[in-house]
Amino acid sequence: MKINLISLASMLLLFACNGDQDKKMSSTIITKWQDDKKAGISLTYDDGTIHQFTVARPIMDSLDFKATFYIITGKIKGSAQGKFIGRPVAAIIEETATVPTDSNNFFERASAIGFTGSHSALAYHSDAGALFESGKITEAYAKIDEGYAKLRSGEIAVSAYQAQYSKTDTTTWEDYKSYADDGHEIASHTVTHPRLAVLDEVNMLYELQQSRQDIIKFLGEEYTFSAECPYGTENERVMEYAHGIYPALRNRMPESWLEELNRSSKIQPGSSEKEYVQWQRGPLTNITMETMKAWVDTCLAHDNIWLVLVFHGVDSIGWEPRTGAELKEYFSYMKAREDDLWVATFADITKYLRERNNVSVTNQWTDDHVKIQMVSSLDTSIYNIPLTLKTYIPDGWRDVEVKQGNLLLDKEVKKDDTGKYVLFNLAPGNTEIDIRVI
Ligand SMILES: [Zn+2]
Repeated sequence: MKINLISLASMLLLFACNGDQDKKMSSTIITKWQDDKKAGISLTYDDGTIHQFTVARPIMDSLDFKATFYIITGKIKGSAQGKFIGRPVAAIIEETATVPTDSNNFFERASAIGFTGSHSALAYHSDAGALFESGKITEAYAKIDEGYAKLRSGEIAVSAYQAQYSKTDTTTWEDYKSYADDGHEIASHTVTHPRLAVLDEVNMLYELQQSRQDIIKFLGEEYTFSAECPYGTENERVMEYAHGIYPALRNRMPESWLEELNRSSKIQPGSSEKEYVQWQRGPLTNITMETMKAWVDTCLAHDNIWLVLVFHGVDSIGWEPRTGAELKEYFSYMKAREDDLWVATFADITKYLRERNNVSVTNQWTDDHVKIQMVSSLDTSIYNIPLTLKTYIPDGWRDVEVKQGNLLLDKEVKKDDTGKYVLFNLAPGNTEIDIRVI
């Protein structure tokens, strides 16, 4: 009997050999993607606009594709609303008459102005945030000074902040619960969709934590795994806070084995040497169907690409909308290639990749029997996505019986260039498989 142990999944091929290698050989690898596919694709949608659910979702359901929806929780009735936490806003407004905006007061002012009760004032928050994030710091300060000057003069009225319910985006928590029950991932896109990079600590934490709390309350903890901070921010301060609250961010991931090409990147994913490439693409209105399909083809030409598509508007509602007809054509193109594509939520693919890098597998065999055991170093109540194991068996074995505990699995022996093998899925908490020649 021989026992082999691997601790990192990156180098997976393990051989247990005795004297006559070609006859008696068994090894187990964890396939790069679930079900031994060639690439992963996540369909993600931002901002919770209505047609994502009434138009795009039924198309995906008809193809059995599960998507990730990053929702703005403050928009949904029953949730906690956005608010400014801090000194009385009147005192802040008054102070701006004598103290110019600088690094000491910028975050407080940029946080408060969005909650002074008007869309015009909110635009000052957003514009200052955009300037700040593009490195135009003094311009951002000037923008805030300009906004507060208008609040002081009455050109922009100050009123009590009202919940920003949309007349069109009427999706309820009950709706979201049913979509989640169908297998879609519902995930946080904060409470009010602010420029987090210009919020002070307490207000930034509220946006991140309160959104999470409402998702727990209405949907459950399972939907607090991934999040997207608005405007695709990669601001260091925001990333530090957000990574402390959500295990995975579409904005940025901490893994050294993952190359991240964001939506504006011009780098070709095939040029990366890393184990996985997360390739984000935004199918904006002016992107041709041909280009969109070519993204899928690029995935199929390699073995390490995770295409993360970022959709916004659908059928005229939302930013840069695509039509339902276009989505149907595009998703059908993926469906036709599903033998090689793993289309799954952002959370599921993240979990698979992390699990694969954090489990150890033992492959123990005798003349007529292989026992495979898997141990995960992650919390298996969260990291519970089945990994696909490929166990090569000796050439002489014709038929096998595959058992998980007492459960007999219906598995056929297949063959590739390396040899005969059996493919099966194993959840990290469910750790043992027996393969016996019959
Ligand atoms: Zn957004």
